[in-house]
Amino acid sequence: MKLLILLVVGYFCFRAIKNWLMAGSRPPDEVSSTPAGEIDDVMIQDPVCGVYFPKGNGIGLQYKGEELFFCSQECKAKYVHSHKET
Ligand SMILES: [Zn+2]
Repeated sequence: MKLLILLVVGYFCFRAIKNWLMAGSRPPDEVSSTPAGEIDDVMIQDPVCGVYFPKGNGIGLQYKGEELFFCSQECKAKYVHSHKET
């Protein structure tokens, strides 16, 4: 009976050590987790006024299958106006 308890305790110790080793092999979630909008923080240039701004703060526009970004609605409107066909 005592041997059985020893085996059970040993098994749980083995599991605990295994979990601890696995937890140690990967970085903590707080450090590895990156903000969802990180990719949008890329600096891009406004094709109208030439100013640089974070992509996430830009005004997006789908134009002829291309995704363009502008610093403001005004620049977007200017671009659309100047590229208007006919
Ligand atoms: Zn602009």
